Amino acid sequence: MSNIKVLDKEFEPYISEQEIQIKITELAKQLNQEYAGKKPIFLSILNGSFLFTADLFRQITIEAEVCFIKLASYKGTTSSGNVITAIGLDANVSGRDIIILEDIIDTGKTLHHFLPQLESNQPSSIKIAVLLNKKEALAYPIKVDYACFDIPNKFVVGYGLDYDGLGRNTKEIYQLK
Ligand code: 5GP
Ligand code: MG
Repeated sequence: MSNIKVLDKEFEPYISEQEIQIKITELAKQLNQEYAGKKPIFLSILNGSFLFTADLFRQITIEAEVCFIKLASYKGTTSSGNVITAIGLDANVSGRDIIILEDIIDTGKTLHHFLPQLESNQPSSIKIAVLLNKKEALAYPIKVDYACFDIPNKFVVGYGLDYDGLGRNTKEIYQLK
């Protein structure tokens, strides 16, 4: 694997395709066991999670649904700060077991603002599964239930993750040089 350039920045290889796929297979096995008979809904947060979701979901062998949403943040007119709305949350989540799929958790801010909205629809459980967990950067009380990789607080791209819209289309993950 060699370095890649995305716009003005150079990135070096960080996690290989094989390492990613091994961890995803392990996670799928675990979820297949824990959610057998529960018909969970995988709630994938676009855009960054699309490859992670595809590779994980194709290894889910139990009965399950998948749903894609986009979280849009906008500044409220009051001092209350950012408001997060979910676009495309059309599945009826009431009484269902939800597994949120995120590419990366950084500060946890996005999910912290979104979770109350999801909870108001009264699912029977919510768990969070992430590909990458930037543990040291966490600044909000978010519990990550499943993480494929714990990574340091460094900017990464590839395998769905972008730098200014680009760099998503690689099989590996790269970190800023
Ligand atoms: P949080 O709300 O947890 O602070 O941020 C989560 C979002 O920030 C992720 O879904 C992702 O879009 C973006 N993000 C955080 N860290 C990185 C990173 O290292 N690389 C990329 N490409 N996006 C990141
Ligand atoms: Mg994201």
